[in-house]
Amino acid sequence: MFRHFNPVELYFGSGTLEKAGGLAARYGSRALVVTGRSSMKKIGALDRLLEVLEEAGVAAEVFGQVEPNPSFATVDRGAQRARDGACDLVIGLGGGSPMDAAKAIAMCAATGRPVADFFAGGEPEDALPVLEIASTSGTGSEADRYLVLTNQETREKQGWGHRLTYPRASMVDVDLMRAMPPRLTAATGLDVFFHGLEAYVSTAATPLTELYAVEAMRLVVENLEAAYEDGENMEARTGMAWASTLAGMAIDGGRTTLLHGLEHPVSGHLDVPHGEGLAALSLAYLEFILPACPEKCARIAWLLGEEQAAENSIEGLRRLLQSVDMDGGLAELGVTEEMVDRLARDAGEARRLLETNPRPASLEDIRRLYRQSLEGG
Ligand code: NDP
Ligand code: MN
Repeated sequence: MFRHFNPVELYFGSGTLEKAGGLAARYGSRALVVTGRSSMKKIGALDRLLEVLEEAGVAAEVFGQVEPNPSFATVDRGAQRARDGACDLVIGLGGGSPMDAAKAIAMCAATGRPVADFFAGGEPEDALPVLEIASTSGTGSEADRYLVLTNQETREKQGWGHRLTYPRASMVDVDLMRAMPPRLTAATGLDVFFHGLEAYVSTAATPLTELYAVEAMRLVVENLEAAYEDGENMEARTGMAWASTLAGMAIDGGRTTLLHGLEHPVSGHLDVPHGEGLAALSLAYLEFILPACPEKCARIAWLLGEEQAAENSIEGLRRLLQSVDMDGGLAELGVTEEMVDRLARDAGEARRLLETNPRPASLEDIRRLYRQSLEGG
């Protein structure tokens, strides 16, 4: 028995940003546009979005303060803006950070509650409708219910999701992605690969999420290096964008596992890019889960261009990391031996990500995985 549910209306391809006016008019009349500090303004996407909203008769206000790895405080400020402006719709424009923040702002604006309430176990009774416009091929937030936020006081970073946090509709506009510099392309592209890999090995995987996951991994192997080498290669950009959205659909049902559980404390405490944290932890993680799911690891090896045997998955992954210069360790990101206990404690709290892992991990295992990842592979 398995269940599949994903209610997001998707518009995929070049120029889909233009759909935002009609979609916004369907769901509201005053939009809060949630975006990062500069990239969307710089490439003209924010101005174009405001134009199409105006043409569609939708008033808009911009909340352009979402930092990478967004905090509870940013979300609460955004929600206050939405309430002050009587907004009835939230539009996220950018990478995973503004897209995740948009989902949280929509929930907090509708309920009047601080976002910390929900991370402490509260249930939202309502949320404003959300549209997402993805500018990175990375998180898949446009296609799933999840949002990942950091408590700025404790630096704990955690994922959260609910049936009310699905976007109503999303636009994956590959034209926005051509501006991603190589390092961002690499980090976000590896995030896609690990969504595919984790959803595939997850104990929550279903026949449908496995299908999405495998195709997402295949597309990353086929396109990431080319997109990294030449950001204007639109065929590679399109392959990565589709991989990202598919991988978002894969983790929506199949969920992520211990690797994301290990990474969140790293980007929570050190504010590094999520994909770079995943990359640094990934070889130790794969080695750890390998005995628990050898057949799936053999398939992963094959997808990575190696002969189909479980232990080859490690070498295949190492080559993928090297191909985009992401084979450094956690120490390069600023993690020290002294931080391991604290990181492990936070990772151990992420129960939902531990329960989907194909191999149970003790606190001691978790500490060992961090230590093993300090130096690159
Ligand atoms: P971010 O949204 O954090 O953006 C990273 C940087 O890239 C920012 O400086 C941003 O600039 C810039 N940027 C974004 N788009 C472009 C572009 N097209 N061209 C040039 N620069 C650009 O990156 P990610 O997409 O990787 O999102 C990471 C966040 O998402 C993390 O918090 C992570 O934990 C979370 N996440 C969410 C998941 C989910 O399912 N919802 C799954 C996995 C991760 P500016 O800020 O100026 O816009
Ligand atoms: Mn991720």
